[in-house]
Amino acid sequence: MSLTAAFAEEPVRFRSFGPHHLSEVAARHGLRPELLDAVRTISHVLPFRVNEYVLTHLVDWDRVPDDPIFRLVFPQRGMLAEAEEAELARLSRADDRRGLREAVSRIRAGLNPHPAGQQQLNVPTLEGADLPGMQHKYRETVLYFPQQGQTCHAYCTYCFRWAQFVGDADLRFAAPGPDLLTRYLRRHPAVTDVLMTGGDPMIMSTERLRSHIEPILRVDTVRTVRIGTKSVAYWPYRFTTDSDADDVLRLFEQVVASGRTMAVMAHFSHPRELRTAAASRALARIRATGAVVYCQAPLVKHVNDDPHVWTDMWRDQLSAGLVPYYMFVERDTGPREYFKVPLARAVEIFQAAYRTLPGLARTVRGPSMSATPGKVVVDGVEEAADGRHFRLRMAQARDPALVGRPFRARFSETASWLDELEIDPGTPADIVDALAATANGSAVAS
Ligand code: SF4
Repeated sequence: MSLTAAFAEEPVRFRSFGPHHLSEVAARHGLRPELLDAVRTISHVLPFRVNEYVLTHLVDWDRVPDDPIFRLVFPQRGMLAEAEEAELARLSRADDRRGLREAVSRIRAGLNPHPAGQQQLNVPTLEGADLPGMQHKYRETVLYFPQQGQTCHAYCTYCFRWAQFVGDADLRFAAPGPDLLTRYLRRHPAVTDVLMTGGDPMIMSTERLRSHIEPILRVDTVRTVRIGTKSVAYWPYRFTTDSDADDVLRLFEQVVASGRTMAVMAHFSHPRELRTAAASRALARIRATGAVVYCQAPLVKHVNDDPHVWTDMWRDQLSAGLVPYYMFVERDTGPREYFKVPLARAVEIFQAAYRTLPGLARTVRGPSMSATPGKVVVDGVEEAADGRHFRLRMAQARDPALVGRPFRARFSETASWLDELEIDPGTPADIVDALAATANGSAVAS
């Protein structure tokens, strides 16, 4: 029997839990009152959503609050400044709704909700008009944000797109349908890859997903359909027992049969997400369609800032037939002070894990910063006659002429993003110019 043939297992109904269900979650899983209070307070500002699968199969309740998956999905103490947390708690206790609303929006605005100018930059145009729900940064790839795919099965506390989950319609990226996308693609034959992203496109029904994908398949120049998703980690039943799970596998097969590459860009933050029976079955079924699963995640303190975690994760991925692809540096948004890992430590973690891998898993690259000019990878630290330096490289760039080009920056123990680095004065001018406009607009070259 084919792995994608009908799957004999009881369906599990999807139910999400938000801030209003915290008491129920706490009672069921024995969350201590002080932790419950903290989660309740911080979730006024940061989005919170989990589901039954995450609660029962991923969180290790015996290890709470230090459990990495608990830190991954539950907003908690330390993610906001102490004074902010105290203010939220006071306003909440006093039932001062107006004061709470004002404080929440002020605190959110201070969390840099749009890193790397993602709302203003990279928006493509067609006949002089901006195209909603699309970004075109790298020549070969267009990002497409289908309107119905802008939530997730659960929310990550470190999500760099957290702002779109907190209810402000202006903050959401959303394309109502694929018409403008396909018109744009026909005029830009250099675009070979469409990356559907969100939120999580796999939150959509298969019928809806099909309505976005099939028109893309009618554009001959598109060779790869990518779907960015954390559904295998957060809701693997999407590919096993959901009522349209088999249909989604048929859709993937259809993409492959059209001669395209179907790439599932899977987000795994911790090896535990790969080790459940449901996730294994989901991955086997996806792979049996001919789709290729590429794995990526940011390196975040409290969740996966340990080389053993990455060794295990990349080895597990290889064993499951997946492709380890990227370790990202956490973006400068949301509760970044809580999650950030200095670049010096990030490169140590990456290299310590990378060295342990068999050659076939060394497909992974990182630690990589998705910055305004492109993806900048920290390749290592070098001791030179003129001092210690980070070796950096543009792994991807808005300007293709920069791709693959190495450069250096003075070593720093504390820098955790590109704009905190002092770029070497000998760096070629075109790289310096590209780097000059970083996330916060500050010049980085000395
Ligand atoms: S699954 Fe992705 S988009 Fe959704 S909350 Fe997590 S990081 Fe953000």
